[in-house]
Amino acid sequence: MRNPARQTRENRTITVDFQNEATYFQLLGDGKAFLECILAFVLSLGFQLKHKATCGGGGCLTRHSHYVRIRLGGITIWRLQCTTCRVVFTILPHFVLRYRQMRPDVARKALLATHGGLSLELCAVIGDISPMALYRLICALGHQNLVVMLTRCGLPLPVYFLADEKHSKCLADKVYLPTIVCGRVIWHLGYTEEASAAAFTESYGVFHRAASQQEPSDRVKGVLTDGFDSTTKSMRTLLPGVRVGTCLRHALIKLPKKLVAIASPVRKALRTQFHTLWYRARQRKGLRVFALGQRLRHFADHVTHTAGTANGERVRRWFQEKKAGWYAVLADPQMPATSTLLDQAHNAIDRKLFMMKGFHHRGGSQQAFLTGLAHLYNLVPYQRRAQHAGQCGVEVEGGKVPTHDWLLNLQILTSGGFR
Ligand SMILES: [Zn+2]
Repeated sequence: MRNPARQTRENRTITVDFQNEATYFQLLGDGKAFLECILAFVLSLGFQLKHKATCGGGGCLTRHSHYVRIRLGGITIWRLQCTTCRVVFTILPHFVLRYRQMRPDVARKALLATHGGLSLELCAVIGDISPMALYRLICALGHQNLVVMLTRCGLPLPVYFLADEKHSKCLADKVYLPTIVCGRVIWHLGYTEEASAAAFTESYGVFHRAASQQEPSDRVKGVLTDGFDSTTKSMRTLLPGVRVGTCLRHALIKLPKKLVAIASPVRKALRTQFHTLWYRARQRKGLRVFALGQRLRHFADHVTHTAGTANGERVRRWFQEKKAGWYAVLADPQMPATSTLLDQAHNAIDRKLFMMKGFHHRGGSQQAFLTGLAHLYNLVPYQRRAQHAGQCGVEVEGGKVPTHDWLLNLQILTSGGFR
């Protein structure tokens, strides 16, 4: 008889760096040394093993059983069991990928090429693997939550962040990728088929729940958006009382579109004056909101004088509509003022999605795939001539990664066996 209450087994696999393969095979013959090596490794990471909730983890670990993985060329994999709560941890040596035949050095090349924007098909050619195998590998990495991964690196939950949606396509259908970025790190990359406030709330809610699990009190003070109604609404629903600002760079970009049927030099002059207005407003130390309100009124009058009543009215109405979001940015000096870093993250993800067109289909593992891409975005170091050469996004933001090797970091940080 089937047991209806049968629990799904939790993933308690951990990847351990044994430095080289020979060490691993040597340790297989010595249980005590094997155990010590693993405990020392976990200690060096500063992580804790995921015991049962009721177990303090103070008990002993014993070697539980081992099994030989045929697909991996007969490598012996050991398991450790906690003598108190009886949970079992599977110990994967660094040269093995979970559930995968693919060697890490092959995965490294293929993932790096993917991250660089090469098509899945061509990435697969580099490693002599199937494109589907690469797709599945990225999805497997994406089963680990971004918030869990980033807090494991010691990054504090963001207090101010950027939120916006990337418009993309799944076959012929429009889809949206709600995204949360703080500095150089992606905290959330979701997937919705609708642009409604409800759909976005659900997606951003995944981030919100994961963050609340790490730290029950809400710490978010400010969110910067591009002013899209559904985004603003979803943020207000999830984070009542949060300051929601609108990107100031978008204000500059949008102004010329509000000025119709005027000579180009007039439009250019107005844009320059608008730019100066923002610069001065941000330079001010006190009464920034009050001063901005005054300046916007004067500027609208100025538009009426130089570009006619119709343009003046249009600009005035636009200010009326947007000013609350701009005030929110100026009211708090710590609020981010532009969404440039989020646009950069979207551009990077866009290249990969464009390159994997052939894999889009309804009912695919879009969410897992996107999260996998976001892990790569956060953990692959910048190239040697970049501003932050050799560092990954997590490090630029002040986080710590377990080792100097990004793929090993990816393997360790997406393990399910840590708390
Ligand atoms: Zn235990």
